[in-house]
Amino acid sequence: MFRCKNCKSIDKFELMFSPDYKGDRSFGQKYNKKNEIEITVDGYTFVPDLAFMNDHAVCRYCGQIYIWDYDSGIKEEK
Ligand SMILES: [Zn+2]
Repeated sequence: MFRCKNCKSIDKFELMFSPDYKGDRSFGQKYNKKNEIEITVDGYTFVPDLAFMNDHAVCRYCGQIYIWDYDSGIKEEK
């Protein structure tokens, strides 16, 4: 799971699509059996990593962009 560094909310994000993105921009998220978040964009499903979040994800609560960290349950590799 991911946590917003600003407001500490968990995994409440939406994606920033680049202005020239040509797809439908339909976007969904759910948790898989390993409790990882899965994102589906226009029919393509994947598990985002921290780099992806910090490139594309905006916090839905506070509006901050690109300031995600792993939730404390997962140790960050240094
Ligand atoms: Zn936030």
